[in-house]
Amino acid sequence: MRVELSADLLSRLEEAALRAEPYEACALLLGHADENGVAVKDIAFSANVTESDPKATFEIDPTLYIRCQKEARQGGPQVVGVWHSHPGGKPLPSETDKARSLEAGWLWIITAVNDGQAESLGYRADAHDPQVMHPAQITG
Ligand SMILES: [Zn+2]
Repeated sequence: MRVELSADLLSRLEEAALRAEPYEACALLLGHADENGVAVKDIAFSANVTESDPKATFEIDPTLYIRCQKEARQGGPQVVGVWHSHPGGKPLPSETDKARSLEAGWLWIITAVNDGQAESLGYRADAHDPQVMHPAQITG
């Protein structure tokens, strides 16, 4: 399982995570996916619209998601996954993240921010049970 994400896109994610501190930042990941891997080609940054504590959780703006799905149907890139940050945390899916992982095969990228340093890891939601997340190596 490979994840293609350019250094430029990764640094845009990590800069957004640093800027959003102490809040969680989030985005949809756009590109192409099949059973062998995911290629991320673009990022659709979202406001964190959670009604819960934005320092501890996130929610993608549903209108952004609808717009991206519509563009995908019209020949644009697919929505292949989701990115968010963990300020002061680890780049691992939390229990909440797993519980809210509903899209089979989605790529999850999580950027942890600690002392001004960002660290990002990728996961792919299982094709049959999306609440199981498999580590996925990010390559350029
Ligand atoms: Zn999380």
